Amino acid sequence: MESNFYREIVNDHNLHPTHKHELADADIELRGVNPSCGDDITLRLKVDGDKIVDGAYTGDGCAISQASADIMLDLVIGRGKDEALRLADIFLRMIKDKITDEELEELEEAGALIDVSHMPARVKCAVLGWHTLENILGNGLPEVGG
Ligand code: ZN
Repeated sequence: MESNFYREIVNDHNLHPTHKHELADADIELRGVNPSCGDDITLRLKVDGDKIVDGAYTGDGCAISQASADIMLDLVIGRGKDEALRLADIFLRMIKDKITDEELEELEEAGALIDVSHMPARVKCAVLGWHTLENILGNGLPEVGG
């Protein structure tokens, strides 16, 4: 059930992550954990008003959890917080329910992870970064540490 596109995207972001590093001047950070697989990431964002100007993550976990966080940051850096939350909502609906073709297109590379919707055991891995993003942006109060 895995498409070549899915495999290539996950491999590529694991071998050559763009955003897996420290972010010393981050404004907000939040840890996300998926105990069922052992995935553990810390998401850090630099914001200017309502705009996400930079972002990074550190952590460990399976290929899907790490690649998904990297792909997510590719998509949301440079966007407004509301826009990032809207995209996270589309991603989570893609994995757990269904979305329109237009919505799929908006997700760009992240749309490759639609294959995970057929892999129940990997769903928590794929959504970890996106849930962490929702939490970091959604509940208003920045949280630092774990
Ligand atoms: Zn995992």
